[in-house]
Amino acid sequence: MSVATERTTFASLNPATGEVVGEHPIYDEAAVAETVARARRAARWWGDLDWKERRLRLLNFKGALTRNLDRMAQLIHDETGKPLPDAQLEVVLSITHLDWAARNARKVLGPRTVFPGMTAVNHKCTLEYQPLGVVGVIGPWNYPIFTPMGSIGYALAAGNAVVFKPSEFTPGVGVLLAELLAEAVPEQPLLQVVTGLGPTGAALARSGVDKIAFTGSGPTAKKVMAACAENLTPIVAECGGKDAFIVDADADLEAAADAAVWGAMSNSGQTCVGVERIYVVDGVYEEFLGKLTEKAKGLRPGFGDEAHYGPVTMPGQLDVIERHIKDALERGGRAVVGGTESVRKPYVEPVVLTDVPDDSSAVCEETFGPTITVHRVKDAEEALERANQTSYGLAGTIFSGSASRAMDLARRMRSGMTSINAVIAFASVPALPFGGVGESGFGRIHGADGLREFARPKAITRQRFALPTNLTSFSRTDKDMARILKLVTMLHGKNYKR
Ligand code: NAD
Repeated sequence: MSVATERTTFASLNPATGEVVGEHPIYDEAAVAETVARARRAARWWGDLDWKERRLRLLNFKGALTRNLDRMAQLIHDETGKPLPDAQLEVVLSITHLDWAARNARKVLGPRTVFPGMTAVNHKCTLEYQPLGVVGVIGPWNYPIFTPMGSIGYALAAGNAVVFKPSEFTPGVGVLLAELLAEAVPEQPLLQVVTGLGPTGAALARSGVDKIAFTGSGPTAKKVMAACAENLTPIVAECGGKDAFIVDADADLEAAADAAVWGAMSNSGQTCVGVERIYVVDGVYEEFLGKLTEKAKGLRPGFGDEAHYGPVTMPGQLDVIERHIKDALERGGRAVVGGTESVRKPYVEPVVLTDVPDDSSAVCEETFGPTITVHRVKDAEEALERANQTSYGLAGTIFSGSASRAMDLARRMRSGMTSINAVIAFASVPALPFGGVGESGFGRIHGADGLREFARPKAITRQRFALPTNLTSFSRTDKDMARILKLVTMLHGKNYKR
């Protein structure tokens, strides 16, 4: 049932064919408010269920999604244009995340006792993580189920109801997801979808929900944050990136080139943790570049079964991609694969750029297309230094023959996630947190941190017996204070030596 009070709708289009995939209502402010009010009732019911009951229902939601995997993947394929197997993979990853969140919520968030310490030794101390209430999820189009599931699955498992505003490019995916949840959990509208454009997202941000989980571009994140500030609504912001890929002198070059080309070109480069810059150590630069260009030249965009990747989903992004390529070439860069002529609406053929200055837009800004810049560096240290020279900090990749060296570089990479000798592996591990630093956002989805992101810690102390000395009473004496000060000096006044 649509609750849009304005009788307006919008269409989602297949970006490859221009065909209408679906028509959806535009939820205005009043319709969003009504939806949030319903979610509040659902949240109370869901929050009162015990862990076992919630887990059972979420596992049934997972079952419904798994049984409808092909239907969901077909819809993702139609709305984003990405190849069907990529869409299937996206659903598979979403299923594994939902499964992990459902199975681990109690362990991570359930009540536990903590040691009270000397000054409260007569208390039993309990820590538990309670649901926030209603979580508003605002999602992007590039991974229309995987990305929001990182918030939706974990927020539900933490005991919240969710109102989801899918991207205007992929509303159908959101609607189907809510339908599948309703099939598994018919009792209450636990996951509701508000379709629409930017203003619908803005209405959700201002609606007084208990948290907003936003995934999208940095500029929109700033608007969402400003809207949330009106009600002091906390947010988790998952934004863009300009991820670097480091190839060390002893790296397996064949594997590195294979991973780099996938990381840069799959999904038409429209991946927040996609590879955008490659830094290659001098001694292996030519050999690596040769392998990379050979692989990139073999890739074809399209919509059929033979396509390696699909069209650019959001038409406006084509201009950004073209501008970055042009800027790179005008400023001394070389296109070793493709060039400005590679932008052929709605597709972009693979583009590999070298000798691109560090301050050009192709190196500084998120391109979000099947393009890559390759840079020659003296050694891995220089690679890391240049990789870190960005205002973003989402993820990164290191290919190296030495595990200890790679681990050292990974720790010093300014990013929320780093994969060694593979690309974007962290995204497939539900137990690992996902999120960025700097302009890539803050807060975490996935893993235990992702569950805690959607819960509020609750601290409870219960006095089990009274102590002879009560320091928080007006009956406290000077002698009591002197005794405690002596004890504290004994316990904490030491000067520690190595
Ligand atoms: P976008 O910022 O244009 O839109 C994201 C969502 O915000 C959409 O649902 C949109 O309708 C909504 N929106 C627009 N204006 C709004 C407003 N004023 N208030 C509230 N909501 C508003 O981003 P996009 O083009 O959909 O997605 C691409 C971006 O997302 C890229 O930068 C990509 O790197 C990033 N991304 C990040 C992650 C991550 O996990 N870090 C994952 C996927 C995509």
